[in-house]
Amino acid sequence: MTLFEKILKGDIPSDKVYEDEYSFAFKDISPQAPVHVLVIPKTKARNIEELADLSQEVVNGYLKGIKKTIQTLELAEGYRVVFNTGEWGGQTVDYVHAHILGKRQLSWPPG
Ligand code: 5GP
Repeated sequence: MTLFEKILKGDIPSDKVYEDEYSFAFKDISPQAPVHVLVIPKTKARNIEELADLSQEVVNGYLKGIKKTIQTLELAEGYRVVFNTGEWGGQTVDYVHAHILGKRQLSWPPG
């Protein structure tokens, strides 16, 4: 079982930001910005491509969960949503997760 499945089950504690039927959002343990929150779907997918093959209900519910999380965080100045994917993308947990970063000026290109 991946780390994020354990967090979803409550076996590993997390600092919850938002939750609904489809999504769970919690603070990243190693924040890279003043706001750094991870949003995961409640249905397992390893990455964004696997997620896209799930039902419309699950995909739409997850996207709405990301939106609700962003609104909860009050990021009117802007923010970044990142899906690190695979080895070269820097993915370390094999369960799809959106990073939401905000509350500072973010640079581009990313490292
Ligand atoms: P990835 O590197 O796969 O894109 O993102 C995984 C993220 O999970 C990292 O930003 C890392 O800091 C975070 N993380 C790793 N272990 C834990 C944990 O036990 N709790 C929380 N809240 N975040 C974690």
